[in-house]
Amino acid sequence: MARFHNLGFPRIGAKRELKFALESYWKGLSSRDELKAVGAEQRKINWALQSALDLAPVGDFAFYDQVLDMSFTLGNLPSRVQGFHGDVLDNYFRVARGRSAQGAEAHAGCCGGVAAGEMTKWFDTNYHYIVPEFKADTAFNLDASRLLEQLAEARAQGVKAKPVIIGPVTYLALGKAKDDSDKLALLDRLLPVYVELLAKLAEEGVEWVQIDEPILVTELEAGWDAAFKKAYQALNTGKVKLLLATYFGQLQSNLPLVASLPVQGVHLDAINARDEVDALIRALPAQSVVSLGVINGRNIWKTDLTAVLNWLEPVAKQLGDRLWVAPSCSLLHVPVDLDSEQKLDGEIKSWLSYAKQKLAELSVLATALNQGLDAVRAELAANAAAVHARRNSPRVNNPAVKAAIAKLDAKLGQRKNPYEVRAAKQAELLKLPAFPTTTIGSFPQTAEIRHARSEFKAGRLDAAAYKTAMQAEIARCVKEQEALDLDVFVHGEAERNDMVEYFGEQLEGYAFSQFGWVQSYGSRCVKPPILFGDISRPKAMTVEWIKYAQSLTTKPMKGMLTGPVTILNWSFVRDDQPRSVSCYQLALAIREEVLDLEKAGINVIQIDEAALREGLPLRKAQWQEYLDWAVESFRITANGVTDDTQIHTHMCYSEFNDIIKSIADMDADVITIETSRSDMELLDAFKSFEYPNEIGPGVYDIHSPNIPNEEYMVKLMKLAAERVPAERLWVNPDCGLKTRQWSEVLPALTNMVQAAKALRAAAN
Ligand code: GLN
Ligand code: ZN
Repeated sequence: MARFHNLGFPRIGAKRELKFALESYWKGLSSRDELKAVGAEQRKINWALQSALDLAPVGDFAFYDQVLDMSFTLGNLPSRVQGFHGDVLDNYFRVARGRSAQGAEAHAGCCGGVAAGEMTKWFDTNYHYIVPEFKADTAFNLDASRLLEQLAEARAQGVKAKPVIIGPVTYLALGKAKDDSDKLALLDRLLPVYVELLAKLAEEGVEWVQIDEPILVTELEAGWDAAFKKAYQALNTGKVKLLLATYFGQLQSNLPLVASLPVQGVHLDAINARDEVDALIRALPAQSVVSLGVINGRNIWKTDLTAVLNWLEPVAKQLGDRLWVAPSCSLLHVPVDLDSEQKLDGEIKSWLSYAKQKLAELSVLATALNQGLDAVRAELAANAAAVHARRNSPRVNNPAVKAAIAKLDAKLGQRKNPYEVRAAKQAELLKLPAFPTTTIGSFPQTAEIRHARSEFKAGRLDAAAYKTAMQAEIARCVKEQEALDLDVFVHGEAERNDMVEYFGEQLEGYAFSQFGWVQSYGSRCVKPPILFGDISRPKAMTVEWIKYAQSLTTKPMKGMLTGPVTILNWSFVRDDQPRSVSCYQLALAIREEVLDLEKAGINVIQIDEAALREGLPLRKAQWQEYLDWAVESFRITANGVTDDTQIHTHMCYSEFNDIIKSIADMDADVITIETSRSDMELLDAFKSFEYPNEIGPGVYDIHSPNIPNEEYMVKLMKLAAERVPAERLWVNPDCGLKTRQWSEVLPALTNMVQAAKALRAAAN
């Protein structure tokens, strides 16, 4: 009999109960006990949903982040929070976010805020974890209490519990040596703590422990494979059985290493690594458990259960009791419960599956494999009907879009002339001064703007009144920019709730959920729109607003768009065609908008690619393939314009060095980027690579309420001028201003414009 299990479940709650409980606690509006009670209730609900499984995860719940939980379990607390006398949970929040709940620290006789732990993306997901901190003298100390308490809770509830921990090698690999010491040197100190933890779990009668080592789907640096061997030799004490879990990708050259480790079972992501299943089975010892992740833990589409069974049945025959079946990874990365959705279009809803529904799919597979297909005929038929309906729906398939994709050719992505020719014509037309100033697009999203939007959505404000309200905001932005004496204006993006959602809502092929929340970090969740079908643009999306803004000024007004790669990377994307094809479809749709803006007399168009870097695959070997289609998608979007039209793009990160050539290939006339925090460090990329076009390295860090002064910004621009010829430099903030207050923005931009004027004066 095959066994069915799960690797992890979302903890935020179907209606984001944990989020609201956390935020209420942090604000001092509820007690720690109340927060703990919500946590316990959430775990109880989650285990109840998993009660039919042969093994359910325990320890996947975290109040903030599972990696931070592991740091506390291992006693690896940064020295700045050691010696805290209050509750452990309060100290945990201090590492997570720099402070605990209002009042909690004072109560513990403590001084208040500390530096929050660094946060970074968990592999290629949109989940962010708190980076473990190491120093050469880091010591570890077991605190198993959290895990043991949750184990006791789960058992009291009758759950067949499988504790889940992050493995030692991934834990070290994901952390950061704050003193540049060698992290691997800590392994010898770390392993005894893991051994002790496993012994404690064994004492509690635990049979299986899931030990996550997702780092195995990446290219291991020298020495790390030896670390794996050493670690698992040490952990193989015979007291508990270990299921080594890998996910998010293929093992590739790490497959022989995985198969050689002395563990009792291995989990493989059979969505991404289906091709490796046979090789893994052949390489593993004859007794080893093989856990296959056959339900996609990263997307929201219904599984084609018949197709999975056709493939899985022979594997099940071959493996017998050795086969375990699960989702591909923890379900943390999908929303909780599709049943919550009341407003989602019924047809589209019938194609979807959130975490709870994915468990139901797993249970159909279990019954089919263990009791025979007859036991689930009805369920399989319903699933097949839904899968078939989605595949053939006219809402998914638009022949005109498919025909346009078939006709794509390289010419679409090529400007008519090289940058030098364009730059001369644009200079002639735009007549900008040296060091031209601009902003990135949004101005503060005030309470009035948000109020107008919610009234409009609720039907209490009609379309005409909403339009008037937004035009008033645009007029305000124009007036302020005139007063500031900026050179290239923006309309301020008042009408946009979100830079992706705004476009998704107007494109054919997109749907929006009410409860499709996924944890991004801590209490923060995102609700990615659902790209379900061929993408087309029924009508212009931004032209009216931009034309109105341009009518108010003689300064050039930037048309403001979100690029195809960013829209793609921040959506749940259909799985029935390559991502590149969906991206090209988005590119063609946004291209039409670019051309319409140009026709409407807009001479400067900015196409944001804030998330281009996020889409990079986990393995470097696959980067180029992604960059090729991502860059080509941008080029298709942007490059149909005449020489006179100036194309800008914007990116929100500073790690450019490794992708700078691809960014240059986008051939935007101007690129604005985030740099101010790193003292123009980013421009190091230009030491060895000469960026050919214009560039605006952000000089004003909009993520902070601080107001940069003129001298500071002049200094940054002078650093930039050491790398890029001054005549190709722009002066601008680092990103959009929507999260700031007008009272912060106006003085900061005043200083920024002054800085540009000082630079011009110095150049003359
Ligand atoms: N144009 C967008 C804005 O100004 C860009 C936001 C972003 O890069 N994240 O808000
Ligand atoms: Zn940005």
